[in-house]
Amino acid sequence: MDYPGNLFVVAAPSGAGKSSLVKALMELDSHIQPSVSHTTRAPRGQEKHGREYFFVSAPEFDAMVKANAFVEWAHVHGHRYGTSKKAIEERIAQGGDVVLEIDYQGALQIKKVFTNAISIFILPPSWEELRSRLERRGEDSPEVIELRLKNAAIELAQAHLFDFVIINELFERAIFDLKAIVHAQRLKYAAQRRARADTFKALNIP
Ligand code: 5GP
Repeated sequence: MDYPGNLFVVAAPSGAGKSSLVKALMELDSHIQPSVSHTTRAPRGQEKHGREYFFVSAPEFDAMVKANAFVEWAHVHGHRYGTSKKAIEERIAQGGDVVLEIDYQGALQIKKVFTNAISIFILPPSWEELRSRLERRGEDSPEVIELRLKNAAIELAQAHLFDFVIINELFERAIFDLKAIVHAQRLKYAAQRRARADTFKALNIP
């Protein structure tokens, strides 16, 4: 599918810093908006329905799957998560940019449907650092941390299928890298031609 807007898909094992990076990107760039996913997990802390996620029941999720409302959905850490068509299509069809922060299975599905989507994998600098970030976060029990590390090994084995890789060693450097990917995408011939149609016309180039 071809749309004027850009679709960025960011995946990473938990603890690699994906959410903080995507949040910082959106604060710096108002043209890029998140897609709000649906999930069957319960809200945590200050999370609000319609902001972080649309929190739905298992039957509601089933009904959406049946109605073909999702571009992709996956089981992640014991819950179901899905990206609705509605969450992205309208915006990119109007030329807006959308960023998806989803797991690697979903990211690879998105690439099949939206062949122009740009996939980005965030790597931690080392296993030791990933483990210590998960421990410092203080959200998970030691058993859950072990499970997340085991899952991370599976996830990292898929990194070669992504278009770009960012190593999140130094946050400032990683956000610079993410901005560079977004910026380069907007400088592609087709994107510039759309954004600066008048200039192209005045220069008499196709
Ligand atoms: P959390 O419950 O911690 O917010 O997210 C757990 C995992 O689910 C994260 O890796 C997150 O990126 C992923 N996730 C969130 N939304 C979606 C979605 O719509 N589709 C898929 N495949 N994964 C998602």
